[in-house]
Amino acid sequence: MRGHRLVCAAVVIAVAAGSTGCAHTAQVAPPASATVVSEATLSPSVHVSLRVERYRIEARTVAELKAEISRIGPLTQTDGFRYAARTWGSFGWRYPRAEGPAGCETGPISIDVEIVQTFPDCQACSAIDSLARTYRSWIFATRSHEEEHRAIIMATALQLEGAIAHVGAATSCAQLDTAVGIAANEVLQAQAAAHAELDQRTDHGAKTGALLQEQKRTPHGAPGPGCIPGCGRPR
Ligand SMILES: [Zn+2]
Repeated sequence: MRGHRLVCAAVVIAVAAGSTGCAHTAQVAPPASATVVSEATLSPSVHVSLRVERYRIEARTVAELKAEISRIGPLTQTDGFRYAARTWGSFGWRYPRAEGPAGCETGPISIDVEIVQTFPDCQACSAIDSLARTYRSWIFATRSHEEEHRAIIMATALQLEGAIAHVGAATSCAQLDTAVGIAANEVLQAQAAAHAELDQRTDHGAKTGALLQEQKRTPHGAPGPGCIPGCGRPR
């Protein structure tokens, strides 16, 4: 930038993990059966990478599917429950610190976001006539729900860029770093609230179709419902 110079050689890099309402850090990594990485640029300074992981499930009935998810689905640190799917976002931001007329300025900002989505993959479920339709409908709704979490993460990345740019400058670089940290933290807190609101409104996707319905027999022989939310915990 004209008239600006770098105060220090190293860029300032901060990384914060944010997440989805469906799950946070997995303590036990499920066996990934496939990984897909894609890259996208939301704006000239916001870069997003997406990795999709799938963990294999063997099941022949809804009950077995639910049991497997309860056994090896992504585990949360927040509530200790396993979920069928998870979307996790990690944010990094950097700026070179440039000295200008207004003091220490951020200079060109760069935002990097890494999103990891984890989904179950039950190939056997799709091959069993009695289970295929239920499974496909449920996994479609589960993916749709996780996409809503991904949209929140991507919107957050753009908000981060705007919030850091709004800080602009401070009298010292230390004060600038502090102000940027405060601004970024506010954005990330809003992100957490957005994920929580989505999960509360949809019951972790259950109200939008991510619900496994199991036919149970009552003592009189009539079927009764038994459910598991797609991204929510088993019930
Ligand atoms: Zn969710």
